[in-house]
Amino acid sequence: SDVHAMSRQQLAVQRARKSFQTGKTKPLESRIHQLRNLLRFVTERRRDIAEAVKKDLSKSEHGTELFETLGVEGEIKLAIEKLAEWAAPRPVEKSLLTISDEVFMHPEPLGVVLIIGAWNYPWAVTLQPLVGAIAAGNAAVIKPSEVCCHSAKVMEELLPQYLDKDLYPVVTGGVPETQELLRQRFDHIFYTGSSAVGKLVMEAAARNLTPVTLELGGKSPCYIDKNCDITVACRRITWGKFVNCGQTCIAPDYVLCDPSIQNRVQEEIKNCIKEFYTDDPKTFEDYGRIINKRHFKRIMALMEGSTVVVGGDSDESQCYIAPTVLKNVTGESKVMKEEIFGPLLPIITVSGVDEAIQFINEREKPLVIYVFSNDNKLIKRVIAETSSGALLANDCLVHFTVSSLPFGGVGNSGMGCYHGRYGFDQLSHMRSCLIKQLKMEGVNSMRYPPHTAKKLGW
Ligand code: NAD
Repeated sequence: SDVHAMSRQQLAVQRARKSFQTGKTKPLESRIHQLRNLLRFVTERRRDIAEAVKKDLSKSEHGTELFETLGVEGEIKLAIEKLAEWAAPRPVEKSLLTISDEVFMHPEPLGVVLIIGAWNYPWAVTLQPLVGAIAAGNAAVIKPSEVCCHSAKVMEELLPQYLDKDLYPVVTGGVPETQELLRQRFDHIFYTGSSAVGKLVMEAAARNLTPVTLELGGKSPCYIDKNCDITVACRRITWGKFVNCGQTCIAPDYVLCDPSIQNRVQEEIKNCIKEFYTDDPKTFEDYGRIINKRHFKRIMALMEGSTVVVGGDSDESQCYIAPTVLKNVTGESKVMKEEIFGPLLPIITVSGVDEAIQFINEREKPLVIYVFSNDNKLIKRVIAETSSGALLANDCLVHFTVSSLPFGGVGNSGMGCYHGRYGFDQLSHMRSCLIKQLKMEGVNSMRYPPHTAKKLGW
Protein backbone atom coordinates (compact mmCIF):
# COMPACT_ATOMS: atom_id res chain seq x y z
CA SER A 1 0.00 0.00 0.00
CA ASP A 2 3.04 2.20 0.54
CA VAL A 3 3.75 1.89 -3.15
CA HIS A 4 0.31 3.26 -4.00
CA ALA A 5 0.84 6.33 -1.90
CA MET A 6 4.01 7.14 -3.76
CA SER A 7 4.11 9.40 -6.75
CA ARG A 8 5.37 8.18 -10.12
CA GLN A 9 8.41 10.42 -9.68
CA GLN A 10 9.15 9.15 -6.19
CA LEU A 11 8.92 5.55 -7.36
CA ALA A 12 11.27 6.10 -10.28
CA VAL A 13 13.87 7.72 -8.05
CA GLN A 14 13.54 4.99 -5.43
CA ARG A 15 13.98 2.23 -7.99
CA ALA A 16 16.96 3.97 -9.53
CA ARG A 17 18.57 4.37 -6.11
CA LYS A 18 17.97 0.76 -5.07
CA SER A 19 19.38 -0.39 -8.35
CA PHE A 20 22.41 1.88 -8.01
CA GLN A 21 23.03 0.57 -4.50
CA THR A 22 23.42 -2.98 -5.77
CA GLY A 23 26.73 -1.78 -7.19
CA LYS A 24 25.94 -2.97 -10.67
CA THR A 25 27.12 0.25 -12.31
CA LYS A 26 30.58 -0.02 -10.79
CA PRO A 27 32.20 -2.45 -13.28
CA LEU A 28 33.28 -0.59 -16.39
CA GLU A 29 31.99 -3.43 -18.60
CA SER A 30 28.46 -2.83 -17.36
CA ARG A 31 28.72 0.88 -18.22
CA ILE A 32 30.10 0.06 -21.66
CA HIS A 33 27.29 -2.40 -22.17
CA GLN A 34 24.73 0.35 -21.44
CA LEU A 35 26.60 2.83 -23.65
CA ARG A 36 26.54 0.33 -26.52
CA ASN A 37 22.80 -0.09 -26.00
CA LEU A 38 22.36 3.66 -26.09
CA LEU A 39 24.33 3.78 -29.33
CA ARG A 40 22.14 1.03 -30.74
CA PHE A 41 19.06 3.01 -29.73
CA VAL A 42 20.25 6.16 -31.50
CA THR A 43 21.20 4.33 -34.70
CA GLU A 44 18.30 1.86 -34.89
CA ARG A 45 15.69 4.44 -33.93
CA ARG A 46 17.03 7.25 -36.10
CA ARG A 47 13.78 7.38 -38.06
CA ASP A 48 11.54 7.47 -34.98
CA ILE A 49 13.68 10.24 -33.53
CA ALA A 50 13.68 12.29 -36.75
CA GLU A 51 9.93 11.87 -37.21
CA ALA A 52 9.23 13.04 -33.67
CA VAL A 53 11.45 16.10 -34.09
CA LYS A 54 9.75 16.87 -37.39
CA LYS A 55 6.39 16.88 -35.62
CA ASP A 56 7.74 18.96 -32.76
CA LEU A 57 9.85 21.53 -34.59
CA SER A 58 9.26 20.97 -38.34
CA LYS A 59 12.91 20.10 -38.70
CA SER A 60 14.02 18.07 -41.70
CA GLU A 61 15.21 14.51 -41.12
CA HIS A 62 18.77 15.31 -42.17
CA GLY A 63 18.77 18.41 -40.00
CA THR A 64 18.03 16.25 -36.97
CA GLU A 65 20.83 13.84 -37.86
CA LEU A 66 23.27 16.66 -38.40
CA PHE A 67 22.42 18.66 -35.28
CA GLU A 68 21.32 16.04 -32.79
CA THR A 69 21.97 12.36 -33.30
CA LEU A 70 25.41 12.57 -34.95
CA GLY A 71 26.80 14.49 -32.00
CA VAL A 72 25.30 12.05 -29.51
CA GLU A 73 26.73 9.10 -31.44
CA GLY A 74 30.16 10.73 -31.41
CA GLU A 75 30.00 11.30 -27.66
CA ILE A 76 28.94 7.71 -26.99
CA LYS A 77 31.75 6.29 -29.15
CA LEU A 78 34.30 8.52 -27.47
CA ALA A 79 33.11 7.46 -24.02
CA ILE A 80 33.30 3.76 -24.94
CA GLU A 81 36.80 4.23 -26.30
CA LYS A 82 38.13 6.33 -23.42
CA LEU A 83 36.25 5.01 -20.40
CA ALA A 84 39.09 2.92 -19.02
CA GLU A 85 41.39 5.94 -19.17
CA TRP A 86 38.84 8.34 -17.62
CA ALA A 87 37.89 5.99 -14.81
CA ALA A 88 41.47 5.04 -13.90
CA PRO A 89 43.03 6.44 -10.73
CA ARG A 90 44.73 9.76 -11.46
CA PRO A 91 48.12 10.04 -9.75
CA VAL A 92 48.96 13.52 -8.48
CA GLU A 93 52.25 15.25 -7.79
CA LYS A 94 54.19 14.07 -4.76
CA SER A 95 56.21 16.04 -2.23
CA LEU A 96 59.01 15.03 0.09
CA LEU A 97 56.36 14.13 2.67
CA THR A 98 54.50 11.78 0.34
CA ILE A 99 57.40 10.48 -1.68
CA SER A 100 56.92 6.87 -0.64
CA ASP A 101 53.08 6.96 -0.58
CA GLU A 102 50.40 6.34 -3.18
CA VAL A 103 48.72 9.68 -3.90
CA PHE A 104 45.90 9.78 -6.40
CA MET A 105 42.36 10.82 -7.21
CA HIS A 106 39.86 8.06 -7.69
CA PRO A 107 36.78 9.02 -9.76
CA GLU A 108 33.67 7.48 -8.21
CA PRO A 109 30.01 7.65 -9.21
CA LEU A 110 27.83 10.20 -7.41
CA GLY A 111 24.65 8.12 -7.28
CA VAL A 112 21.34 9.12 -8.87
CA VAL A 113 21.47 12.02 -11.31
CA LEU A 114 18.43 13.98 -12.47
CA ILE A 115 18.67 15.18 -16.08
CA ILE A 116 16.17 17.88 -17.05
CA GLY A 117 16.19 18.76 -20.75
CA ALA A 118 15.06 21.74 -22.84
CA TRP A 119 12.96 21.53 -25.99
CA ASN A 120 15.14 23.19 -28.62
CA TYR A 121 17.37 20.16 -29.31
CA PRO A 122 15.29 17.65 -27.37
CA TRP A 123 17.60 14.67 -27.94
CA ALA A 124 21.02 16.26 -27.71
CA VAL A 125 20.37 18.03 -24.40
CA THR A 126 19.04 14.89 -22.69
CA LEU A 127 21.13 12.09 -24.21
CA GLN A 128 24.49 13.87 -24.09
CA PRO A 129 24.35 14.42 -20.33
CA LEU A 130 23.14 10.81 -20.06
CA VAL A 131 26.33 9.62 -21.78
CA GLY A 132 28.36 11.30 -19.02
CA ALA A 133 26.07 9.92 -16.32
CA ILE A 134 26.32 6.33 -17.57
CA ALA A 135 30.06 6.53 -18.19
CA ALA A 136 30.65 7.82 -14.66
CA GLY A 137 28.64 4.90 -13.25
CA ASN A 138 25.55 6.77 -12.08
CA ALA A 139 21.88 5.96 -12.27
CA ALA A 140 19.91 8.73 -14.03
CA VAL A 141 16.32 9.88 -14.09
CA ILE A 142 15.66 11.54 -17.45
CA LYS A 143 13.05 14.30 -17.72
CA PRO A 144 12.64 15.46 -21.34
CA SER A 145 10.92 18.76 -22.05
CA GLU A 146 7.13 18.48 -22.27
CA VAL A 147 7.18 21.20 -24.93
CA CYS A 148 8.50 18.69 -27.50
CA CYS A 149 5.73 16.23 -26.70
CA HIS A 150 6.41 13.84 -29.59
CA SER A 151 10.09 13.49 -28.77
CA ALA A 152 9.27 13.01 -25.08
CA LYS A 153 6.79 10.25 -25.94
CA VAL A 154 9.24 8.40 -28.19
CA MET A 155 11.91 8.66 -25.51
CA GLU A 156 9.57 7.35 -22.83
CA GLU A 157 8.39 4.44 -24.97
CA LEU A 158 11.56 3.35 -26.72
CA LEU A 159 14.55 4.14 -24.52
CA PRO A 160 13.56 1.56 -21.84
CA GLN A 161 13.65 -1.09 -24.56
CA TYR A 162 17.39 -0.48 -24.83
CA LEU A 163 18.63 0.65 -21.41
CA ASP A 164 18.32 -0.79 -17.90
CA LYS A 165 14.79 0.26 -16.95
CA ASP A 166 15.47 0.70 -13.27
CA LEU A 167 18.74 2.57 -13.60
CA TYR A 168 17.69 4.99 -16.35
CA PRO A 169 13.94 5.71 -16.16
CA VAL A 170 12.37 8.35 -18.39
CA VAL A 171 9.86 10.42 -16.42
CA THR A 172 7.74 12.70 -18.57
CA GLY A 173 5.62 15.65 -17.53
CA GLY A 174 5.36 19.40 -17.31
CA VAL A 175 5.98 21.92 -14.56
CA PRO A 176 4.08 20.21 -11.69
CA GLU A 177 5.69 16.85 -12.49
CA THR A 178 9.14 18.44 -12.63
CA GLN A 179 8.48 20.15 -9.33
CA GLU A 180 7.53 16.80 -7.80
CA LEU A 181 10.79 15.38 -9.14
CA LEU A 182 12.69 18.29 -7.63
CA ARG A 183 11.24 17.41 -4.22
CA GLN A 184 13.12 14.10 -4.39
CA ARG A 185 16.67 13.70 -3.26
CA PHE A 186 19.29 13.38 -5.98
CA ASP A 187 23.06 13.26 -5.92
CA HIS A 188 23.36 15.68 -8.83
CA ILE A 189 20.95 17.68 -10.99
CA PHE A 190 21.89 18.42 -14.58
CA TYR A 191 19.57 21.10 -15.93
CA THR A 192 19.38 22.58 -19.44
CA GLY A 193 16.99 25.48 -20.00
CA SER A 194 16.36 29.10 -19.16
CA SER A 195 18.20 31.06 -16.46
CA ALA A 196 14.90 31.83 -14.69
CA VAL A 197 14.04 28.15 -14.18
CA GLY A 198 17.70 27.40 -13.49
CA LYS A 199 17.37 29.47 -10.31
CA LEU A 200 14.35 27.42 -9.19
CA VAL A 201 16.25 24.20 -9.83
CA MET A 202 19.20 25.38 -7.79
CA GLU A 203 16.91 26.45 -4.96
CA ALA A 204 15.29 23.03 -4.87
CA ALA A 205 18.71 21.35 -5.00
CA ALA A 206 19.98 23.44 -2.09
CA ARG A 207 17.48 21.78 0.26
CA ASN A 208 19.40 18.52 -0.10
CA LEU A 209 22.84 20.05 -0.71
CA THR A 210 22.65 18.52 -4.17
CA PRO A 211 25.22 19.89 -6.60
CA VAL A 212 23.94 21.21 -9.91
CA THR A 213 25.09 21.71 -13.45
CA LEU A 214 23.14 24.50 -15.11
CA GLU A 215 23.34 24.76 -18.89
CA LEU A 216 21.53 28.04 -19.46
CA GLY A 217 21.23 30.60 -22.23
CA GLY A 218 21.49 34.34 -22.63
CA LYS A 219 22.45 36.84 -25.29
CA SER A 220 25.59 35.72 -27.12
CA PRO A 221 27.16 38.72 -28.91
CA CYS A 222 28.86 38.58 -32.29
CA TYR A 223 31.45 41.24 -33.06
CA ILE A 224 32.46 41.74 -36.70
CA ASP A 225 35.73 43.59 -37.18
CA LYS A 226 35.62 45.91 -40.18
CA ASN A 227 38.90 44.54 -41.52
CA CYS A 228 37.75 40.95 -41.96
CA ASP A 229 36.34 38.94 -44.86
CA ILE A 230 32.80 40.14 -44.37
CA THR A 231 31.31 37.84 -47.01
CA VAL A 232 32.57 34.67 -45.31
CA ALA A 233 31.81 36.05 -41.84
CA CYS A 234 28.18 36.77 -42.78
CA ARG A 235 27.74 33.33 -44.34
CA ARG A 236 28.82 31.65 -41.12
CA ILE A 237 26.74 34.02 -39.00
CA THR A 238 23.63 33.49 -41.13
CA TRP A 239 24.03 29.75 -40.70
CA GLY A 240 24.58 29.96 -36.94
CA LYS A 241 21.70 32.34 -36.38
CA PHE A 242 18.89 30.87 -38.44
CA VAL A 243 19.43 27.15 -37.97
CA ASN A 244 16.47 25.79 -35.99
CA CYS A 245 14.84 29.22 -36.49
CA GLY A 246 17.25 30.82 -34.06
CA GLN A 247 16.15 28.50 -31.24
CA THR A 248 19.70 27.53 -30.36
CA CYS A 249 21.29 28.31 -26.99
CA ILE A 250 24.59 29.18 -28.67
CA ALA A 251 23.10 31.12 -31.60
CA PRO A 252 24.68 34.55 -32.12
CA ASP A 253 22.02 36.73 -30.50
CA TYR A 254 23.03 40.10 -31.95
CA VAL A 255 25.73 41.63 -34.16
CA LEU A 256 28.05 44.44 -33.09
CA CYS A 257 29.90 46.24 -35.90
CA ASP A 258 31.31 49.53 -37.10
CA PRO A 259 28.71 51.85 -38.74
CA SER A 260 30.79 51.84 -41.94
CA ILE A 261 30.12 48.11 -42.55
CA GLN A 262 26.54 47.94 -41.33
CA ASN A 263 24.95 48.09 -44.78
CA ARG A 264 27.43 45.62 -46.20
CA VAL A 265 26.70 43.16 -43.35
CA GLN A 266 22.99 43.58 -43.88
CA GLU A 267 23.29 42.91 -47.65
CA GLU A 268 25.56 39.90 -47.23
CA ILE A 269 23.25 38.32 -44.68
CA LYS A 270 20.27 38.98 -46.92
CA ASN A 271 22.02 37.17 -49.79
CA CYS A 272 22.92 34.22 -47.60
CA ILE A 273 19.36 33.90 -46.31
CA LYS A 274 18.22 33.71 -49.92
CA GLU A 275 20.92 31.20 -50.81
CA PHE A 276 20.21 28.94 -47.80
CA TYR A 277 16.43 29.22 -47.56
CA THR A 278 15.32 30.43 -51.03
CA ASP A 279 13.04 33.43 -51.64
CA ASP A 280 10.32 31.66 -49.75
CA PRO A 281 11.69 30.16 -46.49
CA LYS A 282 8.12 29.41 -45.43
CA THR A 283 7.79 26.56 -47.90
CA PHE A 284 11.41 25.44 -47.67
CA GLU A 285 11.92 22.18 -45.79
CA ASP A 286 15.17 23.12 -44.06
CA TYR A 287 13.61 26.15 -42.40
CA GLY A 288 11.65 25.18 -39.29
CA ARG A 289 8.99 26.78 -37.14
CA ILE A 290 8.78 28.52 -33.79
CA ILE A 291 7.99 25.92 -31.14
CA ASN A 292 4.58 27.31 -30.10
CA LYS A 293 2.20 30.30 -30.13
CA ARG A 294 3.51 31.67 -26.84
CA HIS A 295 7.04 31.91 -28.16
CA PHE A 296 5.74 33.16 -31.54
CA LYS A 297 4.01 36.11 -29.83
CA ARG A 298 6.99 36.77 -27.60
CA ILE A 299 9.40 36.94 -30.55
CA MET A 300 7.07 39.09 -32.69
CA ALA A 301 6.77 41.59 -29.84
CA LEU A 302 10.57 41.88 -29.64
CA MET A 303 10.61 43.63 -33.04
CA GLU A 304 8.78 46.68 -31.66
CA GLY A 305 10.81 49.85 -32.00
CA SER A 306 13.43 48.42 -34.37
CA THR A 307 13.57 48.72 -38.17
CA VAL A 308 13.12 45.54 -40.18
CA VAL A 309 15.59 45.55 -43.08
CA VAL A 310 15.37 41.89 -44.13
CA GLY A 311 12.41 39.49 -43.70
CA GLY A 312 9.92 40.43 -41.03
CA ASP A 313 6.93 38.54 -42.37
CA SER A 314 5.14 35.91 -40.32
CA ASP A 315 2.16 33.56 -40.13
CA GLU A 316 0.77 32.94 -36.69
CA SER A 317 -1.34 29.96 -37.77
CA GLN A 318 1.90 28.13 -38.66
CA CYS A 319 4.18 29.73 -36.05
CA TYR A 320 6.29 30.94 -38.96
CA ILE A 321 8.64 33.92 -38.68
CA ALA A 322 10.91 34.69 -41.62
CA PRO A 323 14.67 35.08 -41.13
CA THR A 324 14.79 38.72 -40.09
CA VAL A 325 17.48 41.38 -39.74
CA LEU A 326 16.84 44.48 -37.59
CA LYS A 327 18.53 47.87 -37.74
CA ASN A 328 18.45 51.04 -35.63
CA VAL A 329 18.76 48.89 -32.56
CA THR A 330 20.33 50.19 -29.34
CA GLY A 331 21.12 48.63 -26.01
CA GLU A 332 17.77 50.00 -24.84
CA SER A 333 15.65 48.41 -27.59
CA LYS A 334 13.10 45.78 -26.62
CA VAL A 335 14.95 43.11 -28.59
CA MET A 336 18.01 43.70 -26.38
CA LYS A 337 16.16 43.10 -23.11
CA GLU A 338 16.02 39.29 -23.24
CA GLU A 339 17.49 36.31 -25.09
CA ILE A 340 15.84 36.37 -28.52
CA PHE A 341 15.71 32.60 -29.10
CA GLY A 342 14.13 33.17 -32.52
CA PRO A 343 15.05 34.21 -36.08
CA LEU A 344 15.69 37.92 -35.42
CA LEU A 345 19.18 39.32 -35.87
CA PRO A 346 19.64 42.87 -34.58
CA ILE A 347 22.63 44.88 -35.77
CA ILE A 348 24.02 47.37 -33.28
CA THR A 349 26.74 49.76 -34.32
CA VAL A 350 29.77 50.42 -32.15
CA SER A 351 32.79 52.59 -32.90
CA GLY A 352 35.25 49.69 -32.70
CA VAL A 353 36.44 46.86 -30.53
CA ASP A 354 36.78 49.04 -27.41
CA GLU A 355 33.14 49.97 -27.49
CA ALA A 356 32.17 46.39 -28.33
CA ILE A 357 34.03 45.11 -25.28
CA GLN A 358 32.40 47.76 -23.12
CA PHE A 359 28.95 46.90 -24.49
CA ILE A 360 29.50 43.21 -23.73
CA ASN A 361 30.89 43.81 -20.24
CA GLU A 362 27.93 45.98 -19.23
CA ARG A 363 25.70 42.92 -19.64
CA GLU A 364 25.36 39.42 -18.14
CA LYS A 365 28.13 36.97 -18.98
CA PRO A 366 27.04 35.22 -22.19
CA LEU A 367 27.26 31.55 -23.12
CA VAL A 368 29.47 32.41 -26.11
CA ILE A 369 31.18 35.46 -27.55
CA TYR A 370 31.75 35.38 -31.30
CA VAL A 371 34.48 37.47 -32.92
CA PHE A 372 35.13 37.75 -36.63
CA SER A 373 38.51 39.26 -37.42
CA ASN A 374 41.76 38.64 -39.31
CA ASP A 375 43.68 40.20 -36.48
CA ASN A 376 44.76 37.59 -33.98
CA LYS A 377 45.80 40.29 -31.51
CA LEU A 378 42.28 41.72 -31.54
CA ILE A 379 40.83 38.27 -30.88
CA LYS A 380 43.25 37.72 -27.98
CA ARG A 381 42.29 41.11 -26.60
CA VAL A 382 38.62 40.19 -26.56
CA ILE A 383 39.54 36.94 -24.78
CA ALA A 384 41.59 38.85 -22.19
CA GLU A 385 39.07 41.62 -21.53
CA THR A 386 35.71 39.83 -21.47
CA SER A 387 34.16 36.72 -19.90
CA SER A 388 31.79 34.07 -21.33
CA GLY A 389 31.20 30.31 -21.29
CA ALA A 390 33.17 30.04 -24.53
CA LEU A 391 34.74 32.24 -27.17
CA LEU A 392 34.69 31.26 -30.81
CA ALA A 393 36.52 33.30 -33.44
CA ASN A 394 35.64 33.28 -37.14
CA ASP A 395 32.89 30.68 -36.98
CA CYS A 396 29.61 29.88 -35.25
CA LEU A 397 28.35 26.96 -33.14
CA VAL A 398 31.09 24.47 -34.00
CA HIS A 399 32.85 24.63 -30.63
CA PHE A 400 29.90 22.53 -29.42
CA THR A 401 31.22 19.61 -31.49
CA VAL A 402 34.76 19.73 -30.10
CA SER A 403 34.61 17.07 -27.38
CA SER A 404 38.04 18.04 -26.06
CA LEU A 405 36.65 21.45 -25.02
CA PRO A 406 34.39 21.76 -21.98
CA PHE A 407 30.91 23.04 -22.87
CA GLY A 408 29.11 25.24 -20.38
CA GLY A 409 28.33 28.73 -19.18
CA VAL A 410 29.56 31.15 -16.56
CA GLY A 411 27.57 33.53 -14.38
CA ASN A 412 24.09 34.01 -15.82
CA SER A 413 24.77 31.51 -18.62
CA GLY A 414 25.28 28.67 -16.17
CA MET A 415 27.72 26.63 -14.13
CA GLY A 416 29.56 23.38 -14.65
CA CYS A 417 30.33 21.85 -18.00
CA TYR A 418 30.24 18.64 -20.01
CA HIS A 419 31.12 16.86 -23.27
CA GLY A 420 33.68 14.11 -23.50
CA ARG A 421 35.85 13.74 -20.45
CA TYR A 422 34.31 16.83 -18.85
CA GLY A 423 30.91 15.12 -18.77
CA PHE A 424 32.48 12.15 -17.02
CA ASP A 425 34.30 14.40 -14.54
CA GLN A 426 31.23 16.53 -13.91
CA LEU A 427 29.19 13.53 -12.81
CA SER A 428 31.96 11.87 -10.80
CA HIS A 429 33.31 12.60 -7.37
CA MET A 430 37.07 13.03 -7.53
CA ARG A 431 37.94 11.24 -4.36
CA SER A 432 41.29 12.08 -2.80
CA CYS A 433 43.19 8.96 -1.84
CA LEU A 434 46.41 8.79 0.14
CA ILE A 435 47.89 5.42 1.00
CA LYS A 436 50.77 5.42 3.47
CA GLN A 437 52.74 2.55 5.02
CA LEU A 438 52.90 1.70 8.71
CA LYS A 439 56.64 2.21 8.53
CA MET A 440 59.15 5.00 9.08
CA GLU A 441 57.46 6.06 12.29
CA GLY A 442 60.64 7.95 13.19
CA VAL A 443 59.89 10.82 10.84
CA ASN A 444 56.62 11.49 12.70
CA SER A 445 58.13 12.10 16.12
CA MET A 446 58.03 15.85 15.60
CA ARG A 447 54.23 16.01 15.35
CA TYR A 448 53.55 14.08 18.54
CA PRO A 449 53.38 15.90 21.88
CA PRO A 450 55.22 17.05 23.81
CA HIS A 451 56.20 19.76 21.32
CA THR A 452 59.49 20.56 23.00
CA ALA A 453 61.88 23.03 21.49
CA LYS A 454 64.48 20.30 21.46
CA LYS A 455 62.36 17.96 19.34
CA LEU A 456 61.49 20.73 16.92
CA GLY A 457 65.09 21.77 16.73
CA TRP A 458 64.28 25.43 17.55
P1 NAD B 1 11.67 24.39 -21.35
O1 NAD B 1 10.51 25.30 -21.25
O2 NAD B 1 11.51 23.10 -22.05
O3 NAD B 1 12.22 24.15 -19.89
C1 NAD B 1 13.32 23.32 -19.64
C2 NAD B 1 12.95 22.28 -18.62
O4 NAD B 1 12.58 22.90 -17.41
C3 NAD B 1 11.78 21.42 -19.06
O5 NAD B 1 12.10 20.07 -18.85
C4 NAD B 1 10.65 21.89 -18.18
O6 NAD B 1 9.75 20.87 -17.87
C5 NAD B 1 11.35 22.40 -16.95
N1 NAD B 1 10.63 23.49 -16.29
C6 NAD B 1 10.04 24.56 -16.89
N2 NAD B 1 9.50 25.37 -15.97
C7 NAD B 1 9.74 24.81 -14.76
C8 NAD B 1 9.45 25.19 -13.42
N3 NAD B 1 8.78 26.30 -13.12
N4 NAD B 1 9.88 24.37 -12.43
C9 NAD B 1 10.57 23.26 -12.72
N5 NAD B 1 10.87 22.86 -13.96
C10 NAD B 1 10.47 23.61 -14.97
O7 NAD B 1 12.87 25.08 -22.07
P2 NAD B 1 13.33 26.57 -22.00
O8 NAD B 1 13.71 26.92 -20.62
O9 NAD B 1 12.37 27.44 -22.75
O10 NAD B 1 14.63 26.37 -22.90
C11 NAD B 1 15.18 27.38 -23.60
C12 NAD B 1 16.37 27.93 -22.84
O11 NAD B 1 17.33 26.90 -22.67
C13 NAD B 1 17.07 29.04 -23.56
O12 NAD B 1 17.40 30.03 -22.63
C14 NAD B 1 18.32 28.37 -24.10
O13 NAD B 1 19.38 29.26 -24.31
C15 NAD B 1 18.61 27.38 -23.04
N6 NAD B 1 19.40 26.26 -23.55
C16 NAD B 1 20.66 26.11 -23.09
C17 NAD B 1 21.44 25.08 -23.57
C18 NAD B 1 22.84 24.89 -23.10
O14 NAD B 1 23.40 23.85 -23.38
N7 NAD B 1 23.43 25.84 -22.39
C19 NAD B 1 20.92 24.18 -24.51
C20 NAD B 1 19.62 24.37 -24.94
C21 NAD B 1 18.86 25.41 -24.44
